[in-house]
Amino acid sequence: MQFNDLKLIEPLQRALQTEGYTTPTPIQAKAIPHILAGRDLVGCAQTGTGKTAAFALPMIQHLSTTPSRHNRRVIRGLVLAPTRELASQIGDSFAAYGRHTQIKNIVIFGGVGQQPQIDALRRGADVLVATPGRLLDLMSQGYIRLDTIEFFVLDEADRMLDMGFIHDVRKVIAALPKQRQTLLFSATMPQDIQDLADRILIDPVRVEVTPQATTVEKISQSVFHVEKKNKRALLEHILSDKALRRVLVFTRTKHGANKLVRQLDQSNIQAEAIHGNKSQSARERALLNFRTGKTRVLVATDIAARGIDVDDVTHVINYELPNEPESYVHRIGRTARAGASGTAYSLCDVEERPYLRDIEKLIRLRVPVIADHPYADAISEAAYAPPLQHNGSQRPASNGRQPSPQANGQRHNGSANPNGKSSYRRRRSRNQRTGTD
Ligand code: AMP
Repeated sequence: MQFNDLKLIEPLQRALQTEGYTTPTPIQAKAIPHILAGRDLVGCAQTGTGKTAAFALPMIQHLSTTPSRHNRRVIRGLVLAPTRELASQIGDSFAAYGRHTQIKNIVIFGGVGQQPQIDALRRGADVLVATPGRLLDLMSQGYIRLDTIEFFVLDEADRMLDMGFIHDVRKVIAALPKQRQTLLFSATMPQDIQDLADRILIDPVRVEVTPQATTVEKISQSVFHVEKKNKRALLEHILSDKALRRVLVFTRTKHGANKLVRQLDQSNIQAEAIHGNKSQSARERALLNFRTGKTRVLVATDIAARGIDVDDVTHVINYELPNEPESYVHRIGRTARAGASGTAYSLCDVEERPYLRDIEKLIRLRVPVIADHPYADAISEAAYAPPLQHNGSQRPASNGRQPSPQANGQRHNGSANPNGKSSYRRRRSRNQRTGTD
């Protein structure tokens, strides 16, 4: 399927050409025709699948081709997003896709002064992209009314829930007109989100793009078993390979992110942290430096990384494994965006092995172990029992051995062990498992 087949208006087709998009992604191909037909929709898709265009294109088309009932510019479309970064990126997408139309958008989020946002609201726009807290704030002060909304998108609904925004979201929804078109996107569908979808959508179409499978398949993944005290040295060793051009490193906590950046700095590895305690300008600066290649290593927490839309992240490193397996999928989805391939490494200490098992259950894939590395942690069969039997092609090691990165098709170049030290070999024989399944 091509974009031409989707019956998009000419100004949108032109904008897509400028963006260099020729083929719709699966979520776009599946969702756009239904949205153009006016249906409510639940989209099970994560960031990186092209879901922003999946809702922005038909929304711009609807707003450009359906005359407003009002004789002045009013907000007709609302997109709720969980984070400021995601909201800004959605706003940028609307501006890019709508560049040849009259559709204007405004982005509002907390953590910055409200006056410029109020001024922009006064100037008027058709689409409002907002995080829930600031939206409610400006509504309560009388700057925003939602009774003119025709089109509502709730993006990353599961993250809204995780971040404790669901009450705010409900309040926003209560202020919307009953007659509207509603789209809900979520990477996962926990029961609370399912219940919310049942309440706010009318006879929705369900569209799913199985993010786990598609994302996971494109990404070359592996895990290093390493003692906690050796993680930092191993990370530095991995980072010494300059083939890791743009690296996103994940920690579980903000404190952990700051500490790691300080430690890397001491070792002359320039890195920046991005997390919720940083000011908006610091976060934007860090993101810009990362995007432009000024900073090679960005250390992030899960929440801050939501919606980081940086193409060409070559490697994701889980310095600490997430305790929620879905976060692993979100994290590694930061690489291999829009069809590119990518690599994800996880540093797993003994306490994190249960997390690894949960992740492997979710992704239905055994993450291959790199046993041949300088800080390899000895793992026994009992301590690391494989969680599942694999089916055919996803089986990581057909010869019953842990695969080397190369055997796993990694663009690893032996980067974690470039010197081929003899200690690696000793450890390798100690660590290499046979008959692990
Ligand atoms: P999203 O999931 O909306 O965050 O989009 C992920 C990335 O894919 C963004 O960088 C988009 O610019 C890009 N993208 C979206 N749709 C397409 C497409 N049809 N072809 C190529 N790239 C796309």
